[in-house]
Amino acid sequence: YALAQFCIPKHYEEDLDHVLIPAGLINDRTERIARDIVEDFGHEPIVGLCVLKGGYKFFTDLVDKIQILNRNSRQSVQLAVDFIRLKSYVNDSSTGSIEVIGGDNLENLKGKNVLVVEDIIDTGRTMKQLLELLESVGPKSVKVASLLVKRTKDNVGYRPDYIGFEVPNLFVVGYALDFNEYFRDLTHICVINENGKKKYSTKS
Ligand code: 5GP
Ligand code: MG
Ligand code: MG
Repeated sequence: YALAQFCIPKHYEEDLDHVLIPAGLINDRTERIARDIVEDFGHEPIVGLCVLKGGYKFFTDLVDKIQILNRNSRQSVQLAVDFIRLKSYVNDSSTGSIEVIGGDNLENLKGKNVLVVEDIIDTGRTMKQLLELLESVGPKSVKVASLLVKRTKDNVGYRPDYIGFEVPNLFVVGYALDFNEYFRDLTHICVINENGKKKYSTKS
C-alpha cells in the first residue's frame, strides 16, 4: 500500500518504501490466532514465552485477545507469561548461534505447555536453536506462534505452528520489528527503503 494512504510518523516518512501489513489487518489476524490457540489448548494451562524485543507487540496483543476470549466463551485457557531475550551471536544476521541475554530462569518451564511468541521466522535458525534449548529443560509441550514467516529458499525447513502472515523476502520493520533499534515505534509493518537503511545503519 502507498504510504500516503496511511498515518506514518513524520520521523519515518522518508525512510520507508511501502506499507506491507496495516495495523488493522494485524489486529484481525491476531484475533483469529487467539481463537485457534484457545480452541487447541482447551483447558490446558499454558505459559506464553515472549521472545524480546521484536515479539513484544504481537505478544501483548495476542495475550489481550486470549483474555477477552477467556471472559466471553465457555472455554478458557489459563495463561502465565514469561520473557526471553535473544541476540544473534554474529551481527544481526541469521547466521551465528543465539545467545540468551535476559529473562527468567528457563527451568521454570519444566513440565509446562509452552507457547513461544516470536516476531518473524527468516531462515528458521534462531527458532531451531531456541527450541533445542527449551527441550533441554523438559517442558510438557512446545508450540510456536510467529507473526511473520519470510518466503525464502534459505529456510532450514522450520515452520511454526501458528503463522500470522507469509511475507516476501524483504527487510520489514514496524510493530516492534526494528532496524538497529529504530522503527519499533511504527504501528504498521512496512518495508524499509535505501534511505532508511543508510540513515539508521551503524557505522562500525
Ligand atoms: P532467522 O534465524 O529465522 O533467520 O532470523 C530470525 C530473526 O532475525 C528474527 O527474530 C529477527 O530478529 C531477525 N529478522 C529476520 N528478518 C527480519 C526482517 O525482515 N525484519 C526485522 N526487523 N528482523 C528480521
Ligand atoms: Mg525475533
Ligand atoms: Mg532485530
